[in-house]
Amino acid sequence: MEAAGKLINGVAFARQLRSEIRQEAENLHAVHGILPTLAVVMVGNDPASAVYVRNKIRATEQAGMRSVSHHLPAITSEAELLDLIATLNADETVHGILVQLPLPAQIDRDAVLDAISPAKDVDGFHIVNAGLLAVGRHDGFIPCTPMGCMMLLHSVLPELAGLHAVVVGCSNIVGRPMARLLQQAGCTVTVTHLQTRDVAAETRRADIVVVAAGHPGLVRGDWIKPGAVVIDVGINRAETPQGARIVGDVAFDEVAPHAAAITPVPGGVGPMTIACLLQNTLRAAQGLAG
Ligand code: NAD
Repeated sequence: MEAAGKLINGVAFARQLRSEIRQEAENLHAVHGILPTLAVVMVGNDPASAVYVRNKIRATEQAGMRSVSHHLPAITSEAELLDLIATLNADETVHGILVQLPLPAQIDRDAVLDAISPAKDVDGFHIVNAGLLAVGRHDGFIPCTPMGCMMLLHSVLPELAGLHAVVVGCSNIVGRPMARLLQQAGCTVTVTHLQTRDVAAETRRADIVVVAAGHPGLVRGDWIKPGAVVIDVGINRAETPQGARIVGDVAFDEVAPHAAAITPVPGGVGPMTIACLLQNTLRAAQGLAG
């Protein structure tokens, strides 16, 4: 198995991708008069969500696209949010709709995600897009984080077919779609989760380990086969003697010496998630261009 380098630089990869997207967005605007537009909906005042939303809006505008922001109060009812989604679905100047998660308890997340038009579902969470991915079709939207992980994997492993991949975590947002994409790339995939009896026994056999558990430092040095490629999706806030820091789900200092290539946190998967959101928004707008 070949690896291009030890550290997989998600910042540099995402910068290059964003610059290509910007060129295509400008071209779409110049040639077809279509300005790719992303509507970002946030309900409530979760501080982490506010940071994510701000970053997504800024990245959208830096990519030569338009963003429309809707910030609703925490007491918003499900019916009010569904009304807004219906308005955005019908608005021909809006190509992508993103509802920032989590939503307040009075709102059924699945009802909201399934109300977004599948053609504008740039997060790829709609049941139709999840279904298209599940049956191996490529005409839906793929969730941004697993899409970014696949790009980073391909940057160090041009051929994935035949490799054994272990995914730690099976959420609908990361783990599950990740496993589908790896399988479609020809990997033999094992999915582990909280009920898995011995996660380390699974990861030790893997050529590729993708970790999205939300558990800081879960994956230790002796969980990794020498020469494996490790993708750390985790974003966790941890208190350290140096103050609060963002850490991944992988104990980086222990794992890096064994791995052929590894993503850091921050600076690995995170920047790719936003770049892939821009890519999906561009695709949504291009769909309109025919
Ligand atoms: P989630 O809580 O929805 O799912 C976590 C999954 O991990 C579950 O399937 C659970 O069974 C499994 N799990 C939890 N602890 C485990 C353990 N000890 N051993 C094995 N499996 C375990 O979380 P999520 O939304 O999938 O996010 C996971 C992590 O990825 C979080 O840290 C989140 O912040 C991060 N994340 C990062 C990005 C990014 O852009 N980099 C995007 C989405 C999520």
